[in-house]
Amino acid sequence: MIFNTAPVIKPIREPGNFAGNHLGAFEYHLTRHLNWFEERGLTVKFWWRDDDAVSTTPALEVLLEFSDQFCIPLSLAVIPEPATEALAQRLKKTLDVNVVHHGWQHKNYQRKSRGEKASEFGWRRTSKEMAKELAEGRKILQNLFGERFVPLFVPPWNRIAPHTVQLLKEQGDYGLSTFTWINHFRLPQIQSHIDIIKWKKNKGFIGWEAVHKRLELQLCRRRTNATEPIGLLTHHLDHGEGCSGFLAGFFKLTSAHPAVKWLSSRELLDEARRNFCLASGRV
Ligand SMILES: [Zn+2]
Repeated sequence: MIFNTAPVIKPIREPGNFAGNHLGAFEYHLTRHLNWFEERGLTVKFWWRDDDAVSTTPALEVLLEFSDQFCIPLSLAVIPEPATEALAQRLKKTLDVNVVHHGWQHKNYQRKSRGEKASEFGWRRTSKEMAKELAEGRKILQNLFGERFVPLFVPPWNRIAPHTVQLLKEQGDYGLSTFTWINHFRLPQIQSHIDIIKWKKNKGFIGWEAVHKRLELQLCRRRTNATEPIGLLTHHLDHGEGCSGFLAGFFKLTSAHPAVKWLSSRELLDEARRNFCLASGRV
């Protein structure tokens, strides 16, 4: 009998190649980036905002468990008008969850027929209407969540009109959080940057390579200015295939890396206020 003894040549897989092991490639690149900061004695700040909470759901449970398991502060953007007592009771049992202010009812007032992008606190509404909803919303959140409430306003769909910003300024202590780049709203801002959902495709995870590219952009920017936190953005009620798997992998790696500092919205709002005062000469 003749045996074929030729050695099997396994293709060498370059660790950073996304064509093969996606999680492995993601971990390889992210670790290299974070090591760069560690070698220079720098840290990268991260924060986590999850939107659209109203009540307790199995989907929210998954995220609350991640927060507890990896000791990662969660900033939960709660919609005030429909928010429930059940959610308030559940959050009492969590280790590090803050509640931030997510609109009023999450209702669109812009005109889609005219091609306008969805917004609840946009230019179609009067200051009077919005001021009433902001004050009422704050009261509800403070009554339900007490000390866990942080005055950080997250406008639904991340869109806000300039006259709404003025209303928040009049409240004195509000910060603002939207998506991607900081705009000059003249309020302390804490932005979100990494949205993990592919909204137009079954709301699944955007994919390891896509999330790597988004993180890489932010991490490269932090090399010259590490002060701005990188905001992870999730929407627990919409998480399709792959979202939880990504979060588990991402939290595991970043919670264990010495160059990463996960911060709460309370800590970041204090810091954003100080930076805002310094930048505007109000020291
Ligand atoms: Zn929302």
